[in-house]
Amino acid sequence: IQAKPKASGKTAVKPSEAKKTANQKEHAPKPPAVVVQPPLHGTSLSESYKTGNHLGKGGFAVCYEGELQCRRDNIKDRIYALKIVPAKMNHKKMEDKFRTELQIHAKLHHPNIVEFHRAFTFKESTYVVLELCSSGSVMELVKKRGCLSLPEVRRLTVQLCGAVKYMHARNVIHRDLKMGNLFLDHDMNLKIGDFGLAAVLVSKSEYEGVFSKNASRRTTVCGTPNYIAPEILEKAKGGHDHKVDIWAIGVILFAMLTGFPPFQATSQDEIYRKAKNVEYDWPDSGANSRRCHNDIPLEAKGLVSYLLQVDAEARPNPDGIVSHRFFWMHGGNAIPLALDPSCRRQKPSWL
Ligand code: ADP
Repeated sequence: IQAKPKASGKTAVKPSEAKKTANQKEHAPKPPAVVVQPPLHGTSLSESYKTGNHLGKGGFAVCYEGELQCRRDNIKDRIYALKIVPAKMNHKKMEDKFRTELQIHAKLHHPNIVEFHRAFTFKESTYVVLELCSSGSVMELVKKRGCLSLPEVRRLTVQLCGAVKYMHARNVIHRDLKMGNLFLDHDMNLKIGDFGLAAVLVSKSEYEGVFSKNASRRTTVCGTPNYIAPEILEKAKGGHDHKVDIWAIGVILFAMLTGFPPFQATSQDEIYRKAKNVEYDWPDSGANSRRCHNDIPLEAKGLVSYLLQVDAEARPNPDGIVSHRFFWMHGGNAIPLALDPSCRRQKPSWL
């Protein structure tokens, strides 16, 4: 691990990004009022985006709304998220990493993955045009609400599992699944974003020597402290694989239900020790925190313990997760077909 995250465990530990932070944060680019996308191959048409509201800031990107000013009649003006990073980074490795992120993200098309539209360079910044997720992240939602109701948790988990199943079937592991990387569109649909730590599992014959002994496993230590799977911490002999994402789903599920992550401590080492020993406590019934009053059913606890297993092989795949009895507890009413945007602020009125 090269960058020391805060003990709170909220900062991602990205590999090979030694000194990305202070310097680059200070120089987070402010966008020009209009950003021009150079003409696409084979056309003379350049398109432009009018920049709007600031959406957020990450480790090395800053995000603004961008309204496409389209000169063609057949496309309606649309608002996207413009993710902006400096075209020249301090470290070559970071540039390579960013390129990998874009290459992986551009190939993924799923209703529960933030859609990647295009990327281009304009005035010394790279602009990534993404589907706009105007309802923020699941982390912001949980912060605002204290915790989420069971039907909401079920719906978001089903959407998360659908996207993870799709990624894993394409040999992509995200490796940084956490509430802050689960975005919500206007209709409260979950969309996985930020592929900065994603990796493709490749066959040994293709990349002999780059990866660990076992053909389809990775060895880099990465992730966000609260969400890191034990096999990454232990630098398991065979490396790690897609099951690290399943562990992270367990952490996310616990946090949505209770309002706090299962492995918490004031030091990072202690967080890691607890994760390795799968040491977590459920809050007393009805008293999770001042703001969260979920009575967490045994079914939900059972599912979390099914996911948070040190033995990665024993963890279920996404299909196994959504067929767990937690999802069928209340018969056909267990999973809402839609969520109203008002639940950004308050528990849905139908509960
Ligand atoms: P980094 O790669 O630097 O971690 P992120 O991908 O996390 O950057 O983006 C930084 C912030 O920008 C996010 O925390 C979020 O607030 C906002 N953001 C990112 N993508 C979107 C999106 N598609 N829609 C709306 N806001 C977004």
